[in-house]
Amino acid sequence: MTSGPPRLSVPRPYGLYLHVPFCVRKCGYCAFFSEPYQEATAAAWLQRMEQDLRTLPVGFQPDTVFWGGGTPTVLETELLQRLLEALHAHVDLSRVTEWTVEANPGTLTEEKAGLLRQGGVNRLSIGAQSFCSATLHRLGRIHTNVQIREAVEWARSAGIHNISLDLIYGVPGVPLEEVQADVAAAQSLEPSHLSCYALEVEEGTPFAEAHRMGGLELVEDDQRRQYEWIRHTLGEAGWTHYEISNFARSGRECRHNLLYWMGGAYIGLGPSAHSHWNGARWGLTATLPVWSRAFEETLPPEAKACETLVMGLRRLQGWGREEFRSASGFDYDALRGPEIDALVHDGLLLRGPDRIRLAPNALFVSNAAFSELV
Ligand code: SF4
Repeated sequence: MTSGPPRLSVPRPYGLYLHVPFCVRKCGYCAFFSEPYQEATAAAWLQRMEQDLRTLPVGFQPDTVFWGGGTPTVLETELLQRLLEALHAHVDLSRVTEWTVEANPGTLTEEKAGLLRQGGVNRLSIGAQSFCSATLHRLGRIHTNVQIREAVEWARSAGIHNISLDLIYGVPGVPLEEVQADVAAAQSLEPSHLSCYALEVEEGTPFAEAHRMGGLELVEDDQRRQYEWIRHTLGEAGWTHYEISNFARSGRECRHNLLYWMGGAYIGLGPSAHSHWNGARWGLTATLPVWSRAFEETLPPEAKACETLVMGLRRLQGWGREEFRSASGFDYDALRGPEIDALVHDGLLLRGPDRIRLAPNALFVSNAAFSELV
């Protein structure tokens, strides 16, 4: 990565993403870039990450930090410690309000939780996915439901109180009752954030192969029913449904992900990571032990604004006219007025005097609405 322009030209807030490209083994549904953890490869990756951290723009002071993957918590304590030290050595972290690390319950330990907290991490995003042993096994997860509970406990005792849990619904053959039990189990752990994702079949995954062979068929009606139940139940329980798949306790919305949804700036380091910085965006190759730029582009302002429009509509509050103008430089009606009207007519968008947002019945089929706008 080359040095970018000084931070003053980039509006706040902005973020830093680090991709940790290792897992114990691949889950059947996962298309994120990761390889089986090997100490030697991880050490080489870390060395390169240390170099890349030195190339951040002059004056770079992120508001949010996010370690994703892959499985950041698969790193041995010594490597975790080195990564934390590298961050503190090369990045001015004085403005960071949210520092998230993704954790797999099968790889978190009490010691790692303590280390992360001491290093400044204040939010853990734990991939629970299910509390049912058979479903965890089918998904290819490496952990048990007991380990999910332990992970939450260790995070709390280390002093990390902002905890998010991921759940997957819509697994073929899994009845609504099981999803209900998962949501109840997740709520009983009192996280501050819940992400509920419909299972998808992603190209290049074992599930895609099973799908091709006729062994895995997603049932859209079941997925929709489960999604509507989750939405309704969490809403009744006082959760803020703030993005299509995300629910938060008051003030606990994920600030880093909000950057992505609102067209904000961020720099991503590590293989397969993406960046959006000062109007340009680029992606890095999904390769180890070295990686390079896969592409770089600067979208024309109108195309960029359309993208921001669509991403921001993932938020349940949608876009206020002024908010969108200041995020994109465009009025949404000048940009896509007829398309917006058509979606309002079809019942997929709601329009207030100075706000547009997805209609409740469009949340499950948001891509259909979004394709009209880009
Ligand atoms: S642990 Fe997470 S990143 Fe790794 S394969 Fe499973 S879902 Fe993907």
